[in-house]
Amino acid sequence: MIIDTHTHLYLEEFQPSPQEAVVRAIEAGVEKMIFPNVDLSTIGPMKELHASFPQNTFMAMGLHPTEIKDLWTVDLEKVYEEFVTNKDKYIAIGEIGIDLYWDKTYRQEQMIALRAQFDWAVNNNRPVIIHCREGLDEILEVLDAMPQKPAGVFHSFGGTVDDVEQIRRRGDFYFGINGIVTFKNSKLREVLPTIGIDRILLETDAPYLAPVPHRGKRNESAYIIHTAAHIAQCLSLTTEQIAQSTSNNAKTLFGI
Ligand SMILES: [Zn+2]
Repeated sequence: MIIDTHTHLYLEEFQPSPQEAVVRAIEAGVEKMIFPNVDLSTIGPMKELHASFPQNTFMAMGLHPTEIKDLWTVDLEKVYEEFVTNKDKYIAIGEIGIDLYWDKTYRQEQMIALRAQFDWAVNNNRPVIIHCREGLDEILEVLDAMPQKPAGVFHSFGGTVDDVEQIRRRGDFYFGINGIVTFKNSKLREVLPTIGIDRILLETDAPYLAPVPHRGKRNESAYIIHTAAHIAQCLSLTTEQIAQSTSNNAKTLFGI
């Protein structure tokens, strides 16, 4: 059994029949999938797809950092309302974080929104799903200002050994590894031993970042087996061992 801890099968890339992608994943041995929210427009389709597979899929609620623009406080308030109204449906707060790759205009606002969402997590005893793109210093600064820090995952992790150590020093964090690790020039495989098998979560980030041999195509949760096999090879373990350890890690963090 494999858990895809980060997949957006509800996005328009999978319409009009996103159910088929979930079925293909289940048939490939991916019994559980976590859907992190993106923005206000994705809440509806995400809940709809979850309702078709209530045993196999789980949801997280949050506002993605690239959605922090002029009217972000209004959006954040609506996302919070959705979370508190349907709290039992959401196993985590995500995806949230800092993304300064495309635009640094809202750096300060992204940090304020991140702190607010970290506080939801702590106050409601939920883990966080963190998106970090050229924003590690900012995320660590926000975390360091918190008396009590949430547990969580740095999803789509692509950092260095030093990044891993900096993050682990802050507390109870895991690292979401996806198709990036299968890319020919990826240095991530050298970082895997430092992360350690007890801190790795498997994910696809579908529809993005398809692993080799599907690189460049639309990604989906069924393809996660290629990433699992590649990690197994890097760590001299079997794919079964990777599946079991990462699933246990996901169960520990998300309580699923
Ligand atoms: Zn994502």
